[in-house]
Amino acid sequence: MTTAADDVLKPDYTAQGRHFIFNEEHEQLREGVRAFAQKELAPHADEWEETTFPDSVFRRMGELGYLGLDKPEEYGGQGGDYFTAMVLAEEMAHAHSGGLAMGVAVQTDMALPPILAFGTEEQKQEWAVPAIKGTKILCLGITEPDAGSDVAGIKTRAVKDGDDWVINGAKTYITNGHRADVIVLVTKTDPDAGYDGFTLFLVPMDAPGVIREKRLQKLGMHASDTALLAFQDVRVPASAVLGQVGKGFYHIMWELQGERMIGAAGCVAGAQLAFEKTLTYAKEREAFGRPIANFQVTRHKFAEMATKIESARQMVYVTAWRFANGEYPVREISMAKLHASRVSVEVADECIQIHGGAGYMKEYGIERVWRDLRLNRIGAGTDEVMLEVIGKSYGI
Ligand SMILES: Cc1cc2nc3c(=O)[nH]c(=O)nc-3n(C[C@H](O)[C@H](O)[C@H](O)COP(=O)(O)OP(=O)(O)OC[C@H]3O[C@@H](n4cnc5c(N)ncnc54)[C@H](O)[C@@H]3O)c2cc1C
Repeated sequence: MTTAADDVLKPDYTAQGRHFIFNEEHEQLREGVRAFAQKELAPHADEWEETTFPDSVFRRMGELGYLGLDKPEEYGGQGGDYFTAMVLAEEMAHAHSGGLAMGVAVQTDMALPPILAFGTEEQKQEWAVPAIKGTKILCLGITEPDAGSDVAGIKTRAVKDGDDWVINGAKTYITNGHRADVIVLVTKTDPDAGYDGFTLFLVPMDAPGVIREKRLQKLGMHASDTALLAFQDVRVPASAVLGQVGKGFYHIMWELQGERMIGAAGCVAGAQLAFEKTLTYAKEREAFGRPIANFQVTRHKFAEMATKIESARQMVYVTAWRFANGEYPVREISMAKLHASRVSVEVADECIQIHGGAGYMKEYGIERVWRDLRLNRIGAGTDEVMLEVIGKSYGI
């Protein structure tokens, strides 16, 4: 019996298999966001490393509906599922600007979710609606000069005074802190109540006593602005409380889960792009009379990187699927965040190595990928904090 060549099962290396969490609509959205990032953002990436990206990016993304993909239609969002937010996080990598992607993610996936989840109707109208339109900019203040990983150790105090609250303290490393119209602020309202002594506030950044002290200089993410903020006798009305008085710690821990998922998705996408760029380079660059990609050692580097990226991707997608289906898989979210950010930094580092001296030069953009991705092992909870969460989840 003979077998026609067409009947032979061959490896489908070039097939673009769609993961089960995505459907045709997600893929159309993906194409749209990618085209936008490539045409309207990437051409400015180098310039924005010097100047930070302009506020007009928020307005443009608001017009396109990208700031509210998974947000309710009644507040101007697109009413899409959670995976639409994953698509945005992934495709923003095509802007080639980690700082820009982070500034946007602070709006869409850090500050907006608690307003929509815990806010009053007035708060949603005042802040969420314009934030989804891109006409108001948000930031989120958890970290302080003396407390980052230890969120419960924050010192910013809000004290009740008649019907008002008076806030004193400081926040640092605050992304969008220089441009934001409002901050979702984590404060301590009852120092004796343990985890039940925290409260979130929505504090307008032009309120008397809010001081944007310093524009902080960083290793990477240069397109974003990062602020040191002081709060000196900032008086806000009771209507500025976001969520329940005393439940701010739980509210912010919930927020961090979504932030970690989106960050992990961005890490996988960033690593994938660095991989592809480096693969093209390795096929073209020659040494000792042949493309460097053809050395077995280089081939194995790509094989290792691809395997790591794929493992992180599957972990992120399956965990996102559980999260989107109403589960609260904190252990797996921590694992996905830990693994994806580690993989992204390992891949970026290997990509520099494969580029040789060119990898160290600014014009190739690979060193920036490494500098930008490096933040993910620190921000939104460090590797060590993720390991603590995972380890403690086993009762040890
Ligand atoms: C560019 C940038 C942007 C940021 N944007 C924001 C923002 O918009 N809003 C915001 O609120 N924050 C933001 N952050 C802050 C970020 O989330 C914190 O830096 C991070 O959570 C770590 O806190 P820390 O810097 O105080 O480090 P620390 O908590 O001082 O940790 C220092 C080291 O000690 C380790 N460590 C701490 N505790 C433990 C432990 N229990 N066991 C083992 N090791 C431990 C840490 O893992 C780390 O290696 C940003 C940070 C950066 C760098």
